[in-house]
Amino acid sequence: MFTEIFENATQKCAENNSRNENDYEKDGLLYCGKCNTPKQSRIHVFGRYEINPCDCRCQQEDYDKIQNIRHEQEKSLTVSILRNSGIHNRSMHNWTFAKDNGSSPKLINTAKRYVNGWEEMKSKNIGLCLFGNVGTGKTYAAACIANALIDRGVRAIMTDFSRVINSMQSFDTKDKNGYIDDICGCDLLILDDLGAERQSDYSLQICEQVIDERAKNKKPLILTTNIPLETIKNPPDVKYARMYSRILEMTVPVQSAGTDNRSRTHEDNMKWAKEYFSG
Ligand SMILES: [Zn+2]
Repeated sequence: MFTEIFENATQKCAENNSRNENDYEKDGLLYCGKCNTPKQSRIHVFGRYEINPCDCRCQQEDYDKIQNIRHEQEKSLTVSILRNSGIHNRSMHNWTFAKDNGSSPKLINTAKRYVNGWEEMKSKNIGLCLFGNVGTGKTYAAACIANALIDRGVRAIMTDFSRVINSMQSFDTKDKNGYIDDICGCDLLILDDLGAERQSDYSLQICEQVIDERAKNKKPLILTTNIPLETIKNPPDVKYARMYSRILEMTVPVQSAGTDNRSRTHEDNMKWAKEYFSG
């Protein structure tokens, strides 16, 4: 019974094995006229030889090409899902090393080193605290890290405390816990602009909760902040001491020292406008 099914199947395969115009037979097997490799193989089954169809070299190469295209498509879909769900501010989706304008070379270099050493950063649970004045490229550098790692299939989430606090206000208790678990469970969590959120005990409680939960998960955290490092080390208001001390345990402080990109852009715009109106 099995032999019969097998014979029918092989017969069918042999019939399906397409014969092109230049194909030819050699030693009882069909050969491809293009690549001169066999399109059939002889296998020993149940005491006799069967002729079975197989892929010649060019068919195999075509198959590999299709598989590669499929693989690339799947990868690009995964990356696009990771980016859409991970970087909450969509305008940052194209903040990449390739598009860097060179205004904060030291910071960008640090960000590149972080990405290059990602496996080690992850396994040793090392984060960064990018601090410095407004508009010195901290957020840009952090977004470059997020985008570069997402390109490699890493589940990175980049958001900011104001967004987290607003989201938390709209959830009931069960959803709040789910939300915290979700953002704190990713491979890399980037929280932009610590200190820019509305200052209240409620906000502080949420910021502390997020940072505590992230510390419990033993996964890296990157923060950007305008708060001076001196204040983080010696907070004048004691209620921040616990959170700041935890941040210092989890991150390496890196100072941004670039020129103020925002005021420079504004200066450029004003220069352009003066020329425009003087014409
Ligand atoms: Zn061929």
